Amino acid sequence: MSKVRIYTLAKDLGVENQRMLEILDGLGVSYKSVSSTIEEETVDLIKQILAEEGTEGTETAPEAVAAEAEAAPAVAATAPVVSAPEAPATAGSDDVAPVAVAAEAAAPATAEIPHRAPVVTIMGHVDHGKTSLLDYIRKTKVAAKEAGGITQHVGAFEAQTSKGRIVFIDTPGHEAFTTIRARGANVADIAIIVIAADDSLMPQTREAIAHAQAAKVPMIIAINKVDLPQADPDRVKTDLTQLNLVPEEYGGDLVVVPVSAKTGEGVEELLEYISLTAELEDLRADPKAAFGGVVIEGRVDRQQGVLTTVMVQEGTLHVGDFLVVGENYGKIKAMNDSNGARIKEAGPSTPVQILGFSDVPNSGEKVASAKNEHAAREVVASRQSDRRDIEDARVQRRKTLEEMMGP
Ligand code: GDP
Ligand code: MG
Repeated sequence: MSKVRIYTLAKDLGVENQRMLEILDGLGVSYKSVSSTIEEETVDLIKQILAEEGTEGTETAPEAVAAEAEAAPAVAATAPVVSAPEAPATAGSDDVAPVAVAAEAAAPATAEIPHRAPVVTIMGHVDHGKTSLLDYIRKTKVAAKEAGGITQHVGAFEAQTSKGRIVFIDTPGHEAFTTIRARGANVADIAIIVIAADDSLMPQTREAIAHAQAAKVPMIIAINKVDLPQADPDRVKTDLTQLNLVPEEYGGDLVVVPVSAKTGEGVEELLEYISLTAELEDLRADPKAAFGGVVIEGRVDRQQGVLTTVMVQEGTLHVGDFLVVGENYGKIKAMNDSNGARIKEAGPSTPVQILGFSDVPNSGEKVASAKNEHAAREVVASRQSDRRDIEDARVQRRKTLEEMMGP
């Protein structure tokens, strides 16, 4: 097992040290400085990420990027060609500048607990373009490497951006968000509120904003459909101001990004803002801590059995681990990442699909690991007995009440 120093690798691959640290942060790998060594496996991952970005050793001319961005709509209209990701942060370098400065000021990170990728949820009124926006991001930012070419719906996906990894919860709508929150779990770090530029604020937009505020999750407003001739982004901003949400350009602190899920305009910028917001939130998680996660969704597959998407929040999951969810436990028989690739372990902010539970767990249920099967059984038994005690007490109260009321 050979190890490589970060700066040596950066030099070999022709990328900046800072970029290398960002990738490591995105992967949740801890380091002390650029002279720290990293594992061979990590090196492979880094190479893969750089290859996907197409930045490895090449200088992307700004003109080329702009040309490609302009060409995108025509391409997108005919076939979902994955060409946009090759044009990363350089697009609109004016807008990117503050982000880069902030990143430089914060580095090099020396904290013991490594950064983790942000988990983002998308909410907004029906038909304002939530699904389209997620589809656009997925098409351009997720390498097409599904197992056997089958796109499996797992409820979450990871996007590789020029600023690191971003995890999107792929079940748009308030329901996913609220059910998960109702069970006491907060899975999203950032909420994107999608508002159609031709429709402005609608009832579900207000609801979505209220949910994000209640969860104390930072919001980014994506004004969508700016490609439409009747688009009126200024009206959206004015309407937001009436809710006491003041856009930055009006002197407030609300980040508002005009986008089009159709042409891809503004999407790169939206991703930049997500990364910047995540950076300010200073999201960290310890891959060496005890495992903790949340069920995103569960379903039964005719062939494979119960498939459960779990978001790893703390610690690291391994194939073979025993997990407890509510009153069920299971052993991880197999694990996939959100691209359908088989993986053996997964660190913080990684959505994984697990095979190993016999019952379908509910969205939002917390998942913990147990040392072994015996320990898992004990946790389940104690939860069952707690629940029975509560139920018995309830029955007893009702009886007493009935007796008091008489026949
Ligand atoms: P959701 O209900 O919020 O998930 O909205 P959808 O993604 O299903 O989009 C609703 C409709 O708006 C669909 O017909 C989309 O094609 C269309 N749409 C979404 N985004 C855009 C956009 O940026 N520009 C235009 N012109 N149409 C869009
Ligand atoms: Mg939708």
